[in-house]
This record gives sequence, C-alpha cells and structure tokens, in this order.
Amino acid sequence: MHLDELAKVTAPLTSTEKMPVLFLGHGSPMNAIEENEFVDGFRQVGKEIPRPAAILCISAHWETRGTYVTAMEKPMTIHDFGGFPQELFDVQYPAPGSPKLALETQSLVETAEVGLDEKWGLDHGAWSVIKHLYPEADVPVIQLSLDYYRTPRDHYALASELKALREKGVLIIGSGNMVHNLRMVAWNKLREPGYGFDWALEAQGKMRKLILDGDHTSLIDYSSQGKAFELAIPTPEHFLPLLYALALKDAKDQVILFNDKAVGGSLTMTSVKISRA
Ligand code: ZN
Repeated sequence: MHLDELAKVTAPLTSTEKMPVLFLGHGSPMNAIEENEFVDGFRQVGKEIPRPAAILCISAHWETRGTYVTAMEKPMTIHDFGGFPQELFDVQYPAPGSPKLALETQSLVETAEVGLDEKWGLDHGAWSVIKHLYPEADVPVIQLSLDYYRTPRDHYALASELKALREKGVLIIGSGNMVHNLRMVAWNKLREPGYGFDWALEAQGKMRKLILDGDHTSLIDYSSQGKAFELAIPTPEHFLPLLYALALKDAKDQVILFNDKAVGGSLTMTSVKISRA
C-alpha cells in the first residue's frame, strides 16, 4: 500500500490517549446470558475504560491457516457451540464491522501477510464477553484470527506490531482462558467460582506471578513450565490471546487482574487489564 493510501485509511481514527488492552477469560458460552460475578467483572471494566472507537478481538475460537482479519461491514453472530439452550442460540450481537480498521490492521502487520476475510463474523469468544462491555452493540468490532502454524513467539511478535492502534482509539481484546482443559472439567462444579483442581490452582498462581512480574518470556515458553502448565494448556488456542494482550503492554502501563478465579476444576476466568495508571 502506498503512503497516501495509508493516510486515507488512518484518517477517520483520530489520535487519542493510549487505549487500554484487555485479556478476558470467557469461560462457558452461558456467561453470555447468565448473571454472575464474572459478568459483573466484564461490565465493571467496560465502565472503567475510555469508550473505544472500535474493537479488535483475538478470540480463541477463530483458528486459521494463515492470518486473517474480518473485513465485512456487518459481521454475523456465530453460534459456534453445541448442546446449549435455545436462548443462547437466539442471542444476536449486531455490532458493525470496520473495513477501515481491517485495512489498517493489515497494513501494520509486517511479520505475516494478513488476509481480509468476508466469511467469518463474531464468534462466541468475542460476542459472549463484548456484549457485557457494550450491550448496545454500537462499537464496531473486527476479529484477527490465530494462525495454527505460528509459534507462540511468532504470535507475540505479530501482536506487538499492533501497538499503534492503541493510540487511535482501538480497544484490543484477547479472549480465551489461561487455564483451559475441557476434558477434565467437573461439569457439576461450573457454578462454584473458586473450585479448581490442585494443578489448575498451581498454574493459576504461577501465571499470575509471571504476568505481574512482566516475565513474558516464560509465558511465551509455556510448554517448558512443567506439569501444571501442561495440564492447563493442552492446546494453545485459549492461551495465545493472553500473549497478544501482553505483547501490547509498554513500560508505563500498569497491569491489574480481575475475575481471577477457577471454575469447574480445570478452567480459570482470570482476566487482565493493561492500562495507564
Ligand atoms: Zn472458549
């Protein structure tokens, strides 16, 4: 893209003070329609931060070969799950897209070729949490996919290329779960916040410390952190959105954890707010 074209794309997003970055532990899709302390936590953070011009969401639920951004005007609400009540399938989150932000994101990333996607939409990793921050669905949302073939270090590097968006009113949200082992979930304990298996609580404590210490290298290298991490991160997709959020932190930011509880034994809802003090 030529510089003059880039200027055109960039113009509508005005320069603002630095936007925060969030990692949201989304947990069960039922959080979209239930009232609980985690939903309260999402609402609270939505009130604390400046209203964004647009949102870029990296969801655990959009993995692709190659890297894509959604570029349609009207992303559809995707109900990418099964076995839940009709009430959940009836939820629509009609936030507009932002083809402009998609183009801008594409132009910022140099370590990967970012494709423009017209087929995806908003998966539940995005809408089940964003709807609590912006219930009116009046903030444009785009998604950036996770390329299966990239290493954690590659994902972190790609994420750091998005830093300029923080100064253009864009709220970047990683949506996943730091501890996420669905095979081991104690389904009867899902509504008991705080219920975690020993290994899950161990991983939660270690992750908490690494995040607050700013030790991103150890988090990127999560597969070398021992048994508790192996059980907590059996597949990378729910953990990688955390690396996207952390990569966008700079030295002046403060890091606050919220919703920092285990559920169902093998999941944690721990969420992160990265913002100016
Ligand atoms: Zn999920």
